[in-house]
Amino acid sequence: MIIVMERNHTEEQLQAVIRRIEQMGYSCHLSRGVERTIVGAVGSKDKTPLQVLEQMEGIEAVIPILRPYKLASREFRPETTVVNVEGVKIGGPEIVVIAGPCSVESEKQAIETARAVKAAGAKMLRGGAYKPRTSPYAFQGLEEDGLKILQAAKAETGLKIVTEIVAVNDIETLLKYADVLQVGARNCQNYALLRAIGQAKKPALLKRGMWATIQEYLMAAEYCLSEGNYDIMLCERGIRTFETETRFTLDLNAVPVLKNLTHLPVLVDPSHGTGHWRLVGPMARAAVAAGCDGLLVEVHPDPANALSDGSQSLKPTKFERMMDELRRVAVAVGRSI
Ligand code: PEP
Ligand code: MN
Repeated sequence: MIIVMERNHTEEQLQAVIRRIEQMGYSCHLSRGVERTIVGAVGSKDKTPLQVLEQMEGIEAVIPILRPYKLASREFRPETTVVNVEGVKIGGPEIVVIAGPCSVESEKQAIETARAVKAAGAKMLRGGAYKPRTSPYAFQGLEEDGLKILQAAKAETGLKIVTEIVAVNDIETLLKYADVLQVGARNCQNYALLRAIGQAKKPALLKRGMWATIQEYLMAAEYCLSEGNYDIMLCERGIRTFETETRFTLDLNAVPVLKNLTHLPVLVDPSHGTGHWRLVGPMARAAVAAGCDGLLVEVHPDPANALSDGSQSLKPTKFERMMDELRRVAVAVGRSI
């Protein structure tokens, strides 16, 4: 249920509404928008109808949300959420580019990449220190040593750090270094991890599972939101189809579909979405044209010798060229990069 407050409601009326909803066994989530203040009442146990609230002062309407995700829905928050990562705003007019290697491999590799992507206009540095690999024999990441390298790259360039969390047990360590926690496609429905991120209240970037429907994906986000973390970004990274020419099928339909259904910012990862560096630029341009709020792109100084995902990684010079092309597309759709 959402409770839409009257435009001129008082703070006392709002607090009275919140108290009443909590007494009825629901938990309250507040959305104070420019236009309206909306209270979301969610709860699994108590089924007391909230329609009785309509009698209370300051309430304009009590509306059921029929979709299974509530706090992630546009009904709950009509304006797009702007996630503020230490001053870098995702969800506003500017399209934010996050770039860097698939995995942190060494200080030299990470710092060289960070300098290059920063010079080309990226605002955040990506790099995995804990890697979810299909094979247990593949490079698993440098773990905390990798996080320290990312910290050094941030100190040098000012780029904010986006790095993956693969297990709840690592969260304390990651919180010391990460500005944004990335949840990989393979953990899209790892509910214990999603709840832990919700409780950690750190900005998070949730990748869409390669099997997940958009509804399942939004339910994953709902896990974080229901724990009180509203700084959630979504990232389309390709789904499994019958096609084998590309690593995954980048579902750009998901961009306008998600923008319509949810207030959360929507990013696109054309690197994993295609699996081939030659396809990254064209699909990044298409993603910007489709209305994404940001991009996640893999860049490596020496892709041929990368320890993971070299074939889809751009060299820094190619990344720079792509950024120039993206700026022109952004302007054409009323955005900037
Ligand atoms: C990654 O970003 O390097 C990664 C592992 O992505 P995904 O979870 O989308 O496969
Ligand atoms: Mn990767």
